[in-house]
Amino acid sequence: MREDMTEAERHPRCPICGGTSFEPGPRGRMALTGVLPRCSGCKSLERHRAARVLFDRLGPARFAGWSAIQFSPDPTVEPAWFGSFELSVYGPPDGIDIQQIDRPDGAYDYVGCSHVLEHVGDDRAALCELLRITSPSGFVYLNIPDPFAEEVTRDWGFPKPEKHGHWRVYGRDVALRFARYIPRQPVLAYRGTDPVTAEATGAFLLPRSAEPYRWIVDRLGKDVELFSGPSLQSAHRSDNRN
Ligand SMILES: [Zn+2]
Repeated sequence: MREDMTEAERHPRCPICGGTSFEPGPRGRMALTGVLPRCSGCKSLERHRAARVLFDRLGPARFAGWSAIQFSPDPTVEPAWFGSFELSVYGPPDGIDIQQIDRPDGAYDYVGCSHVLEHVGDDRAALCELLRITSPSGFVYLNIPDPFAEEVTRDWGFPKPEKHGHWRVYGRDVALRFARYIPRQPVLAYRGTDPVTAEATGAFLLPRSAEPYRWIVDRLGKDVELFSGPSLQSAHRSDNRN
């Protein structure tokens, strides 16, 4: 520990539950920064807390009345922020297949998909489906295992048991995959920091029209950049929808 550390640095507080007690992560791991990563209160990990900071900056009051769906449990957002909130837990018996989502077009304003895309064989179908069910006033929040850790995506074409059943490990070139699969959809990359472990981590935001695009860029400023697809910054509201 540094001698000039502030009280807040010595005793970090979980931005999700306010807890100050932390424990080892999955399979006993520590954070890359060498400290305990899992909150003992809400069980959040680095990526959840970094994303909670993101959502706090977006201003959860904006979500009042929104219809929301989340694929895979994730403490990043609070169901109570939204007008309605549906949760799909991956796999049987009730998990929705994101490659073929049994919901109408534009049914949700918020679509959260956290660590699911790497578990499906056809990620093009999954991305198209996630966008299809998102309304023009909303956005998709997409979280995948850190694609900035590797240069090139390795896709082995089947779910590898020793890789937690993942079909692939995404690399930075996931931008090319987004550009090929969803060419008209802007993908914004957010880079943030978990206030507990000081670990840098990111997420993707896919706004469905110029209005949510501008709101996200206004709120997140330099911490968000266009990763693939067209900029909707100056587009008219009704333009450039996929
Ligand atoms: Zn917590």
